[in-house]
Amino acid sequence: MFAQLKPVATDPILGLMAAYREDPNPLKVDLGVGVYKDEQGHTAVLKCVKEAEALRLKQEDSKTYIGMAGDLGFNAHIEKLAFGNSHPVLLANRVTTAHTPGGTGALRVAAEFIKRANPDATIWVTTPTWANHISLFQAAGLKVKEYAYYDYDTKGLKTEQMFAELAQVPAGDVVLVHACCHNPSGMDLNFEQWQRFTELALERGFTPLVDMAYQGFGSGLDEDAKGLRYLAERVSELLLCSSCSKNFGLYRERIGAVSIVSADSQVMELAKVNLLSVVRSIYSMPPAHGAIIVSHILDSAELTALWHQELAEMRDRINNYRQLIIDKFAAEGITQDFSFIARQHGMFSFLGINKAQIDRLRDEFSIYMVGSSRVSIAGLNHANIDYFAKAVATVLKG
Ligand code: PMP
Repeated sequence: MFAQLKPVATDPILGLMAAYREDPNPLKVDLGVGVYKDEQGHTAVLKCVKEAEALRLKQEDSKTYIGMAGDLGFNAHIEKLAFGNSHPVLLANRVTTAHTPGGTGALRVAAEFIKRANPDATIWVTTPTWANHISLFQAAGLKVKEYAYYDYDTKGLKTEQMFAELAQVPAGDVVLVHACCHNPSGMDLNFEQWQRFTELALERGFTPLVDMAYQGFGSGLDEDAKGLRYLAERVSELLLCSSCSKNFGLYRERIGAVSIVSADSQVMELAKVNLLSVVRSIYSMPPAHGAIIVSHILDSAELTALWHQELAEMRDRINNYRQLIIDKFAAEGITQDFSFIARQHGMFSFLGINKAQIDRLRDEFSIYMVGSSRVSIAGLNHANIDYFAKAVATVLKG
């Protein structure tokens, strides 16, 4: 039976990572993988996480099952982090949350939940979007359609086309919107565009699904959630998928959350039992470690302050390098306009160079980025930024 399986194309990022690993060039630069790296090119465990793990080791007295919703303390924290301490949806008891194996697990649970609520729902995603969105939703049996988003020519948003297309989305469908730090473009909705998005959701009756994988990586914890909070104050229903992979650096612990906002607390109870039964049928209960680490951090004013500081360091480093790229390119005599990089947020931007130039960067300079020219800004540091700028200047000259 297994011999009848069809081959599956491997994720191009995994191939890129393998090629990078095998490259013997000591000057090699990895701009492919979407994990934060510090000035030493290292993805270190945050200090607040180390302290919380020490506490956990001391305090943990049982490994019994955790329950389908996961760690309830974590769930309460993550709701406040996303919506703010006294958001009306929290005060009205309209939100139910389950902690999940990563943001990816949150999206899969959300997809199964949507299918239960409306088996005919189509989910609309941005063009382009995170590489895994489309296959993940299709694997869950949802129909997927795309709406215009990033404009490769202007390096901004296709604002009018986006809203014209969203104005055609039928009631009962779901529209995925990235809360901040759009992956892969780095181009976010501004506040006015969030307002227009909200108006359309109300007018058309579609349900927003907000994917928030990078809260705190763009402008700040509250700033990055501003659009979500505005939207949640006005629509009666939405889904939120959060991830602690980036902002707590807990990638491999697989910790995220799905939150369902319902019209009132009665519908919330209905949503809750359905959410938990979805979880039960996929993985029964989530792994506890990551959630308890986050809970320990957010339970403690001291550890929370340390986390804020470490998160700000990561955010500031990325934002500083966004400007530094522009300055270094100018110093190398590049006249092409790269100012858009400083207008974008989060881990990624598209350089906007062509395939031949991307190949030359890899083959001649051992600089690795995905074929779309998406670069992970945190792959740059003081030791490689000049080398990178010179290499880009060389391939742009042709
Ligand atoms: N959504 C987006 C937009 C992402 O970029 C990612 C991770 N790169 C995820 C969800 C999933 O995050 P996790 O690693 O927590 O599964």
